[in-house]
This record gives sequence, C-alpha cells and structure tokens, in this order.
Amino acid sequence: MSCDLKDDLGRFLHWGPITLLSLTLIVTWTVMDMNSMWWNPVKSPASLINYGLIWFHTFGTLYYFIKSLMVGPGFLPLRWYPNTVRDTEFLQFCHRCNGYKAPRSHHCRRCDRCVMKMDHHCPWINNCVGWSNQASFVYFLLFFLSGSIQGSIIIIFGVIQGIQKQWYIRQGLYHMATVRLTPTNLMACVFSMGVMTGTGLASIKLLYMQIKVILKNQTEIESWIVKKAVFRRNAYPGNRIKAFVFPYNLGWSANWREVFLYSGDGIWWPVLPGCDQYTLTREQLEQKKDKRARTRLYKCTRPATGHWVPIFSQGLWVSLKIPCTDDPRIALQPGDLIQVTRIQDYWLYGERRISEEEKLKGRKGAIKGWFPSCCAMEIFDENPEYEEILFYNIAEEEPHKRDEENIIINPKIASDFPSQDGKPQKRLRKN
Ligand SMILES: [Zn+2]
Ligand SMILES: [Zn+2]
Repeated sequence: MSCDLKDDLGRFLHWGPITLLSLTLIVTWTVMDMNSMWWNPVKSPASLINYGLIWFHTFGTLYYFIKSLMVGPGFLPLRWYPNTVRDTEFLQFCHRCNGYKAPRSHHCRRCDRCVMKMDHHCPWINNCVGWSNQASFVYFLLFFLSGSIQGSIIIIFGVIQGIQKQWYIRQGLYHMATVRLTPTNLMACVFSMGVMTGTGLASIKLLYMQIKVILKNQTEIESWIVKKAVFRRNAYPGNRIKAFVFPYNLGWSANWREVFLYSGDGIWWPVLPGCDQYTLTREQLEQKKDKRARTRLYKCTRPATGHWVPIFSQGLWVSLKIPCTDDPRIALQPGDLIQVTRIQDYWLYGERRISEEEKLKGRKGAIKGWFPSCCAMEIFDENPEYEEILFYNIAEEEPHKRDEENIIINPKIASDFPSQDGKPQKRLRKN
C-alpha cells in the first residue's frame, strides 16, 4: 500500500469522519425504515422516484465526503521554492515544511503541511478545505443538506401517519394505516430528527460561507488579511500606505469557473490588472512586521498550570472566560518571559522565550499558547511610545479567525474602529 493511500485511510480514524459516517448510517436506516412503511417504493412511479432519491442523496453525500477527505486540499510540496531566487523576498518561509509558502498557501497546524489556497481545516473531513477539494466539499454540503430535507419530510409524515393509525382504521382507510410505530423506531426517529436539524442548520451556514468565499474568490483567511489591510491603512493615515487591492477577485462568474471548471495548479493564480503574483504576500509580510512591532513582553509572576479550565488554581471567573479557540494552553513558571501577541479580558496569548538553562535541561509542554493574564505582568521597557494600551477584540466578531491575533492599538486608532456600541471595547490600564 502506498504511503499516500495509508495517510488518506488514516484520516478516517478520527472522531470527525467516524461520527459523521455513524450518524449517516443511523439516519439513513431510520429514513429507509419509515419510508418503506409510509410510502412503499412499489406503490407508484412517484414512490419509486422518492425511493431512488434517498439512495441518490446517500451515495452523493458519501461519494463527495470521501472525495473531499481523500483528495484533500492540495499540499504544497515540502521545501518548495519559487522559480527565481529573487522572488523569495516576497514570500514567507515555513520552518515546518522547510520551504517558502506559495501565494495563497498557509500552514495548517493539524495537517502539519502548507495547504494551497487554504480556506479552513474541517474536523468532519479531518482535512483542510482548499484548492483541490473545495468543489467536492460544496457538492458534499449540497447533497447532505438536500438529503437531510428529504429525510426530515419522510420521518415527519411517517410519524404523523403512525400516530393516526387507529383513526385511519376506524375510518376504514386501511391503505393509510401502514406505519407501525414501536418504541425503537420512535426513538430512532426522534434521534434522527435531532441530528438532521442540527447538521442541516450547520450545513446551511457552511454552504452560505462557501458560496461567499467562491463568489468573492476570497478564502476565510484572506478575508481576515484584507480586513487587517484596511485596518492598517485607516489606523495610520499619516503613513500614506498604497491602497490595497485584493488581486484574485475577477468577478463572480470567473471566480465560480475557477473553482468548478479550471482550477489551475494551486500555486499561481490569475490576478487583476495592476496586481501581480505577490500583491497579497507583500501585504502579508508588512502585516507580520506590524505584528512584531506590537508584540509585548510579559514576565510570569505566578505559576500557570496549562490547564484548559484552571478552576482550582485561578478561580471561577478566569475559567468562565476561557478563550473560545482550540489553541494550546501553556504552563508557566515564575520568571518565564513571554512575548504576547493577543490580549483578552482574562487570558493572554504568546510565546514563551526559551532560556539558556532550558536549552540544556529541556522542558516539556507547548511554548506557544494561552495563559491566564493574572499569572504575568507586562515589562514596560519596550515600545515606550504607547501611553495607554487599548485593545479591540476583533476575535469576537470573527469566530472563524482562529489563527490570527487581536490588535493592540492606541486610543486614536481605537476611535476609528469602534465596537458595536460605537465605543472602544475596553481600557486595560494606564501606565
Ligand atoms: Zn508549512
Ligand atoms: Zn488542515
């Protein structure tokens, strides 16, 4: 068995695909069972079409689910370099893949590879959605949604007919009294309806997001980059940064064709006139530079356990305000130095500096992640130009934006970016 095939099959061994396949099996069985009593396929041509449609939805869902999972998003080759060395100055380097990130590629922590035109990592397919599986993913959602609607109709009408069985008999309508409800199939119906309602609503949301992404030719990650590009220009009007044009939006029909018909090689993309292959990556590099300038140094004053809900060490309030992301949590010891890039009410996100002692002795645990803010104090010998620290928690408005940082800004900037009530979100403290 080839290594790639082994990897692909290994992707099935994860809670996402296992849950999805198990639920599909239970729901399909329930729908088939109810359908055979409610509208037997041998009754009429219409009932036969209805029966065929159940199989069509089931196979379509499974086919595109497996395709999205096994084809994958398209991983950038390890140690990838652009054709000319000069172009490397416009690209970010990925230390995990030991190569440059092509335009629109991002490193996925879970796949541990750079993904071409990465949109997001989907736990249900245990893979990323990106360049080569976006179309399959959309088809999967369509089949899934359409199948859920058909399944719900069959179960609802089947159960109603089952409840009214005695009434039909009394009325002499024996051909309508065909559904026999038992405790087992009634339980399966309630369970399946719950599953189909929940997953159906989730797939409507996902489908809506995917259609938006495709029509604008802008992935979720790129939307965030564009927001930051606008933010940088509004926040520092004096700097006169050249206006940013997102280079890949060629109009909705061309964007649509790019995903469903000719999707290119996943590395080089058609761009708008006046833009080039590195328009987006140059902006990303500038944003990285800004991020480095915003990084603040903290010193650990109380141990942090690295627990997800540190109720015993940090109390109830800190535990109630945990960051809603699956980023790691880090354990800290007094004296540790942490470079913080994200600030929330009770939690900070940063990277612990590795001390000389640690290099010799070693130390377990993640070095990058969240920790309770009461465990550390900021060291104010850096960035003296900021008199006050304010923060604007964009993360709350952008739930999908998991791998990006909040922005630390000064009061002037905050007034340009009000929160929903029109005010800067929160003042942390005054130096
Ligand atoms: Zn990478
Ligand atoms: Zn991934």
